[in-house]
Amino acid sequence: MPSTSPTVVHKFGGAALADAAAIINVAELLAADTTETRRIVVTSALQGVTNQLVSAIDHANGHDGAAAKAIAEQLRERHQHVARGVASDDVRPDVRDALLARLSSACDLLAAQLHELPTDQRSASLSDAILAHGERLAAQIVAVALEQKGIRSTVVDATQLLITDGRHGNAAPDLARTDATAPAVFDAAFERHDIVIVPGFIGAGHDGVVVTLGRGGSDLTAAVLARAVDAHEVVLWKDVPGVMTADPRIVPEARVVPLLDAREASELAYYGAKVLHPRTLLPLRAGMTLRLRPFADPGAPGTTIAVGRVARGTPVRAISGMSRQALVAVSGTGMLGVPGVAARVFGALAGAHISVSMISQASSEQSICFTVPSDRAEEVTELLRVAFSEELERREVDEIVVRSGLTTIAVVGSGMAHAPGIAARIFGAVADSGVNVVAIAQGASERNVSFVVDENESAEAVRAVHSAFRLDKVGGGRATRRAEPMDVILLGMGRVAQEFVRQFADVAKHKGRAMRIVGLIDRSGYVFQARGLTARQLSAAVLLKQQGGSLQNAPLGKAGTALDAVNFMAAHALMRPVLVDVASGDTAPALASAVAHGIDLVLANKVPLAAAMSGARKIMQEARASGRRVLHEATVGAGLPVIDTLQQLHASGDRVDCVDSSPSGTMGFLFSEMGRGRKFSDAVREAMSRGYTEPDPRDDLCGLDVARKGIILARMLGYTGEMDDVSLESLVPTSLQDVTPAEFLDALPTLDAEWEQKIAEARARGEVLRYRARATRGGVKVGLVSVPVGSALASLDGTDNLFVFSTARYRNRPLVVSGPGAGAEVTAAGVLGDVLRLTST
Ligand code: ADP
Ligand code: ASP
Ligand code: MG
Repeated sequence: MPSTSPTVVHKFGGAALADAAAIINVAELLAADTTETRRIVVTSALQGVTNQLVSAIDHANGHDGAAAKAIAEQLRERHQHVARGVASDDVRPDVRDALLARLSSACDLLAAQLHELPTDQRSASLSDAILAHGERLAAQIVAVALEQKGIRSTVVDATQLLITDGRHGNAAPDLARTDATAPAVFDAAFERHDIVIVPGFIGAGHDGVVVTLGRGGSDLTAAVLARAVDAHEVVLWKDVPGVMTADPRIVPEARVVPLLDAREASELAYYGAKVLHPRTLLPLRAGMTLRLRPFADPGAPGTTIAVGRVARGTPVRAISGMSRQALVAVSGTGMLGVPGVAARVFGALAGAHISVSMISQASSEQSICFTVPSDRAEEVTELLRVAFSEELERREVDEIVVRSGLTTIAVVGSGMAHAPGIAARIFGAVADSGVNVVAIAQGASERNVSFVVDENESAEAVRAVHSAFRLDKVGGGRATRRAEPMDVILLGMGRVAQEFVRQFADVAKHKGRAMRIVGLIDRSGYVFQARGLTARQLSAAVLLKQQGGSLQNAPLGKAGTALDAVNFMAAHALMRPVLVDVASGDTAPALASAVAHGIDLVLANKVPLAAAMSGARKIMQEARASGRRVLHEATVGAGLPVIDTLQQLHASGDRVDCVDSSPSGTMGFLFSEMGRGRKFSDAVREAMSRGYTEPDPRDDLCGLDVARKGIILARMLGYTGEMDDVSLESLVPTSLQDVTPAEFLDALPTLDAEWEQKIAEARARGEVLRYRARATRGGVKVGLVSVPVGSALASLDGTDNLFVFSTARYRNRPLVVSGPGAGAEVTAAGVLGDVLRLTST
């Protein structure tokens, strides 16, 4: 195409189109560019929409029409909500109404298509038509958002210009025909100085019917259109700072790779770096530039891929991983030296459109191994059994074995070809990390060493290679990394949470740290904004909670359990996400899911760590498997360094035998007051009026909370028992356990005499009473003890907490930690301390 001014293709991914605010941002970003460039905008579907359409299709095919319909309705509401947000009140109502009418009829069509799907003969084509709604709807909304900024645009459907081979679900663009068709379609719009908006991910199949290009295909759309109009640049606006040295969800210290050559980029994409669709680079011509830029930080340089140039530099550029792979091995003595076995294997697979991603052949040629996606493994074995039926019968081929649950890891860099010893370093690092390599690719390209490991060891292997090549020190990533935000999700919205929000804002502001709260979760539901909740949104939520409201009714609020909330939020690519649990119930399922999704945890909530060992262990195991960190300083002694001390002792090789503690501010207060001669009933009332107790003081007096802290400490020493095994002495007499709170308060003075006597008896022995938790590897004992006046526990005064560590080294004079250990303020400070610890490592 004879283009007069340069052309740029911008593609906005789902994260850039998450909600109305994000879409308005897109429009602003385009409005800010006042150069004379011709612009094409390729839209993805709104975040999560394609996944929802896929599951609607699954439901419809599984004859669960109701579930499919429910999804269609959700999609209708979501798009209308976003459309209203984009076309706010001050626009021309006709524009907004036209948009709403369009969305509505598209959603009617979607519902009808889902209804037809199970009975339709051509379900592959109908599925594609269903999936296409996502990007088409997004294109319409983006057009209106641009109009709000005074930017003219034309929406052109991809079926008019992107011609493909017609393969449903995974169509390949027909570049020659697209090159011939597309320019004329664009020209008319460019004449009018319009931005042309094209829905990504779809194209025209036979007879012009809509087909999809495979998941993540909107990147490919951008590249194909760029080629057709001879654009000089393609910008893919992403939710990550660029192509990173590894998936940041697996390797938190991953850096941005400033420059990649096209082959390196293709290799990474092909081996699973989800940041780029594997076929994106094929259409681009030499001299074109593909840039991946962070949507959240438009000023950052991102990653540049210069097509046709070789980038020099460190040997290893980045590491990617492709999960859900199966290794298929065909072996037999009869294969020795028989020509063409490999060709026949791969011929059989190519015929069925199954792509083989890694091949490895033992030098004896007695076996040939390759990986395929797990979900096709069965089909592959069947195909091979047929293809080699004669050899199997003649026993020249012994067996065809499949092993699933694997990940292929690719270590990529053009510089590897010239640097000796790379493979040795890679496999040395993997071996040192204790990960077993299942297979190594033979004859891989010189810019790629790939190998296969067990899926649940793959994160470990990637991190090992990442650190062996010091990829966290890659130059271009550094500046970006410092600015790289930390996304905090707050679970629980009580007093500690409210205090945390306040302290967090102070730190984020004064320290200039890029930290933001992206999600809030309470018992009713959640509020989420991928780009961070604003100060106003946060204080509105806090106010709502203080007034007794629920988050599901907040603006942006959604109903759901904590697990729903975490799953929803985890589907967004967050930056160094941390889930802060300041709730008070058993949140174990939500926490386990969070770590499995690559989210670090900070807990003040004791329940999940004190509840069933199976739940607590699951969280820790998931965390270990995915390399996540779980910090929980505030679960015991609020901000006091209790957990930290324990960990330091362990780390320094000391053996901790016992932790004796008085970890309850209420109990501490009661016993020091009674020691001063105060009546039990008076001391309890005073503690209540000062706000030291729970609304019903029995919740403190029963010792359950102390027992929880005890079990958390004991488990850190290796104890594997449950709450039921704890020996727990409650200070609430059985007769008063079931009375009303008012009756309990009235009955308090009846207990005074007995307490007076106990205190006096102790005093006579030179001792004082304390409520103590003793944690050892063998168990937890919680109850009243009498201790000598000179002992550490006796020194406790007021609401302070006190912890006594007896260890192999600190035996005669134990290590003591004491100080204020309760209250929203110090607890929130403890939580914040943990969060900051995560940012600094
Ligand atoms: P889009 O919104 O443009 O479709 P995607 O969600 O498809 O973007 O891709 C971005 C995701 O790819 C990131 O959230 C990130 O977790 C993942 N990813 C995997 N490997 C890498 C890598 N090497 N660099 C950057 N991101 C990666
Ligand atoms: N919306 C499609 C998907 O989620 C295509 C894309 O986003 O690139 O796969
Ligand atoms: Mg994508």
